[in-house]
Parts: sequence; C-alpha cells; structure tokens
Amino acid sequence: MTFDQLDIIKPILKALTHEGYTNPTPIQENAIKPILDGRDLLACAQTGTGKTAAFVIPILQNLVTMGRKNKTQRNIEVLILAPTRELAIQIGQSIDAYGKFLNIKNTVIFGGVSQKTQVDSLNRGVDILVATPGRLLDLMDQGYVDLDSIKFFVLDEADRMLDMGFINDVKKVSYKLPKERQTLLFSATMPEEIEKLANTLL
Ligand code: AMP
Repeated sequence: MTFDQLDIIKPILKALTHEGYTNPTPIQENAIKPILDGRDLLACAQTGTGKTAAFVIPILQNLVTMGRKNKTQRNIEVLILAPTRELAIQIGQSIDAYGKFLNIKNTVIFGGVSQKTQVDSLNRGVDILVATPGRLLDLMDQGYVDLDSIKFFVLDEADRMLDMGFINDVKKVSYKLPKERQTLLFSATMPEEIEKLANTLL
C-alpha cells in the first residue's frame, strides 16, 4: 500500500516524501482511514511502529479539509496529551515535519521549565497543543489555555500515563473538553483501567 491509496492530500504527501517515507506502516494503514472518516479510535501500538504519524497525518488533513484556512484567529482545535516531555517534543517535531507545507501552528508545553515562553507561544495562537498533563492543568488554572474549541483529542501512551500516576490529571483535563469531538487513544498495552478510561472517553 502507498500513502496515495490512503487519500492523503498533496501537501502532506510531499512532506512525507521529504521525510523519506514510501509506504505506511501497519498501524498507519489501519488508523489513518478511520480517523479521516471522523471516527473515534482505540489503538494498541508500541513506540517505533510509526504510531505518531498514524494520528498526526490524518489530524492535519482533517484540519485542512475542515476549512480552517479562512479563519482569522487561531483557536486550539487539537489537544495531544503525552506522558513525558521527550515524547511531547517528539510529537511536536512530527507535526512540524508532516505539516511543513500547511499553515498550521503547534506548540509543546511541559513541566520542569519556566512557563514564560510556553505562555507567549499560546498567546500568539496555536491550532495544535501538545502537552504533558501537569503543566497543562497548571496553565489551564491560570487561564492561559482555553479548551472550548477542541475538535480532536489524542491520548498518547495511555498505559504510561497510568504507570506514571497521571490518570487523574488526564481525567480532569477530559472533563473540560467539549463533548462533541473526535477522540483517539493510543496505548502499548490495554490494562483494565485503560479499557475503562477508553469506555468513558471514546
Ligand atoms: P513512532 O512509533 O511514532 O515513535 O515512530 C518511529 C519512527 O518511525 C520515527 O522515527 C518516524 O519518523 C518513523 N516513521 C513513521 N512512519 C514511517 C513510515 N511510514 N515510513 C518510514 N518511517 C516512518
């Protein structure tokens, strides 16, 4: 199979060619179409399988086809939660890479560093926010993050969120999201607690 056969739009195909990707990985083959069709998704996928592109590519495409280009102001339309700063940064880099021919802005926020540059970036306006849960809640409490416009919510490495004790923070964030949204949950393993969470989120 090729990315062409998954109906990926030209500017994203071009970016994928720049990255040297020729064929989708199995998780991409299985996940991209349902996400483009607007469906919620529960995916079992380990790091290294190409799972980041499996959700970033169709979300970028959905943002483009929703016609957001005509908007004058940027609202956060995509929230991606990741358990660690390293993973969050990596997801941000993937968005930059696959979206390099699109007019879509993202920023990454995580704890353990000053919040100033993160707040400045949020204030300038972003379409996609990648965040670790603690810093996100912190900035939400301070009024810097408004989740009312979220249309896509991704929970990445959900089982690691559980292992690291972030599950309550994830739930707190999820209560603040609009009910009408597309939700994607990625996890390497599916412990009972994650299944339960998936049932409430999806
Ligand atoms: P991930 O599982 O998201 O951490 O991705 C693992 C690695 O695979 C990353 O370095 C990606 O750049 C790379 N990758 C993702 N999709 C593809 C693809 N279709 N072809 C080749 N490499 C890919």
